[in-house]
Amino acid sequence: MYTTVLIRFGELALKGKNRADFEARLIQDIKRRLKAFPELAFWRTHGRLYIELGGTPYEAVAEPLQRIFGLISFSPAIRVPLELEAIQAAALRLVEAAQPKTFKVSARRTARAFPVPTPELMKRVGAYVLKRVPGLKVDVHAPEQEVMVEVRQEGAFVYDRVVPGAGGFPVGTSGKVVLLLSGGIDSPVAGWYIMRKGVEVEAVYYHSPPYTSERAKLKVAELARLLSLWSGRVRLRVVPFTEIQEALKASVPEPLLTTFMRRYMMRIAERIADEVGALALATGESLGQVASQTLENLHVIAAATRLPVLRPLIGLDKTEIIALARKIGTYETSILPYEDCCTVFTPAHPQTKPKLAKVEAIEARAGLDREGMIGRALQGTEVLELSPETPPARFEAELELYL
Ligand code: ATP
Ligand code: MG
Repeated sequence: MYTTVLIRFGELALKGKNRADFEARLIQDIKRRLKAFPELAFWRTHGRLYIELGGTPYEAVAEPLQRIFGLISFSPAIRVPLELEAIQAAALRLVEAAQPKTFKVSARRTARAFPVPTPELMKRVGAYVLKRVPGLKVDVHAPEQEVMVEVRQEGAFVYDRVVPGAGGFPVGTSGKVVLLLSGGIDSPVAGWYIMRKGVEVEAVYYHSPPYTSERAKLKVAELARLLSLWSGRVRLRVVPFTEIQEALKASVPEPLLTTFMRRYMMRIAERIADEVGALALATGESLGQVASQTLENLHVIAAATRLPVLRPLIGLDKTEIIALARKIGTYETSILPYEDCCTVFTPAHPQTKPKLAKVEAIEARAGLDREGMIGRALQGTEVLELSPETPPARFEAELELYL
């Protein structure tokens, strides 16, 4: 039924010279994401992009379109010539397909060439449909279906829905951030929010074999793949962390173990950021969620890096984060049982109010070969590239659900 998808960019916040760049990037993202459909044709006018479906079912493109940052909304439409009869027939097709009990017609007209004034256009389209659909009534306040007619220079577009896009800015228009990505619920959601603001994410996962399993690593890679469905691409660095964890366990007071481990995570992430040109780090931390996320701990942990630490989830409750994880499609993978760390390195009574001066003094006294350990971790780093074309990982726990 639909011939065309009408895409709205909306107000891409940064105006002026940037705007053209943003639009170009967005159009490039849309085309790349839809490259599996060769029948599509693209054309644009001011602030709008049109996709001519050319026989491709609208449903096939709707899903990828909803996952593109910077896209405000879109509408599947029937495009017809600027003729009243054609507009009426298209409106009737939409109503017959939806079978509402009540409806209304609204219209907007930018093409002056079209002879019928807007109020009359609405009236005549409405009357035409009413006459042909028995039992149908007009409800101007809360109609079950609203048929919208847009009369533009490039043709008339008749549609009945505005599908919200993911919002934000096109990926890559706001620079790069290193995301600390664990296998949990929070950090993938944090990564999604960062990406939505147009940031390209370089993900880092600290892996501690044999304390953490191969499956835990696979799970993090799967989370990175799920994020790539939104951004088109995510690079994941798997950093070996066993040596550092063991050295810390042997040399620092147990209640502070997590705090020290996180400080090393920050330092390594900072090195990676410098290497790839990222200007900030990002975590899934949320104030007070666990003992290591008190304000005191966030302070001591962040003090290990000179880069800003972005924490998009800082003010959210766990239930809100879970709802978001479901929405973006990472929740089911995050709750798989393979842990990103282990009881061996989790203190029974973690320190919730560490003091920076004390932590720094202990670090100095411990006499660990910090540079050597960080260097070896970076040296042993494995780089994985994830994209929507990467096959999804399968897990036994997931499969068991079906057995
Ligand atoms: P998540 O649900 O993201 O795992 P969490 O609630 O379990 O978070 P913590 O375990 O305290 O919280 O971790 C806080 C943040 O530190 C995580 O959100 C993540 O950004 C980072 N982090 C923790 N462990 C790792 C790891 N093994 N690799 C990479 N980042 C990590
Ligand atoms: Mg975690």
